[in-house]
Amino acid sequence: MKQDCLQCGKCCEKWGWDQRGIVEDIVPWILSGRTDILQHVGIRFSDGSFATGARLSLSDVPRVARIDYWVDPGGKKLRHCPFFFRAEDKKAYCRIHGAKPAVCIEFAPWDEGIRDYALACPACRDTTP
Ligand code: SF4
Ligand code: SF4
Repeated sequence: MKQDCLQCGKCCEKWGWDQRGIVEDIVPWILSGRTDILQHVGIRFSDGSFATGARLSLSDVPRVARIDYWVDPGGKKLRHCPFFFRAEDKKAYCRIHGAKPAVCIEFAPWDEGIRDYALACPACRDTTP
């Protein structure tokens, strides 16, 4: 069932960090020079080394073994999403809305496959069991 997101922000606050990324997320960021995003991405390479994505180039991509959201520019894991903000209207917004990763785009708590009542998403209110 499709319902409208009310931009309460609960999902980004609860699940918007400690998520794995995919190569398909980071390639467009590299191609468009989105170091503002890549500096917050943790990259584990196939040789076991770690870096943020700030200096990542396309030639590095085949060596990427794991992608983590999110880290600070020094590589320290964050326990919040650095792109989340709450505006004066109290609604939640995403600073990278047009370029957010697949894990965020695909998260729809009212969908059968994802449904997350523990989240108490207000857009799920009509489908609570
Ligand atoms: S918890 Fe539900 S209503 Fe709130 S922002 Fe997320 S999807 Fe939208
Ligand atoms: S990137 Fe945007 S959609 Fe994803 S957790 Fe952060 S604020 Fe939410």
